[in-house]
Amino acid sequence: MRAWVVEDNDQNFELVEYLLSEAGWEVARATSGAELRALTARTGLGAEPAEPDIVLLDMNLPDASGLDLIVALRAHSALATVPVVAVTAHAMRGDRERCLAAGCDAYLSKPIDPATFLGEIAALAGARRR
Ligand code: MN
Repeated sequence: MRAWVVEDNDQNFELVEYLLSEAGWEVARATSGAELRALTARTGLGAEPAEPDIVLLDMNLPDASGLDLIVALRAHSALATVPVVAVTAHAMRGDRERCLAAGCDAYLSKPIDPATFLGEIAALAGARRR
């Protein structure tokens, strides 16, 4: 299984990468909205990294609105049905609803709980949108 992890914070990324790679996942990272857009632009053209089974999207990036990025992912034919998990540090009232309305499949608040993270991600990756 392959995950794209969109995360600007190195510590957060390293924990997620550790958990996923220990479980055999391939991980590709984007540290910004621009890097995610670059990954997205190459997808479906036979380039690496290949299409992901899940996208973990930090909603607080230096250069982009996570909500806009969800919409951009959904507009790409190869990514329209890939599960997208919004990840945010400040759970504010209405955040979850806004993320779901923009097209994400699930919502995780930081800090990531290592005890439950993999199970949640594996379940979501197995349930592609239709
Ligand atoms: Mn961030």
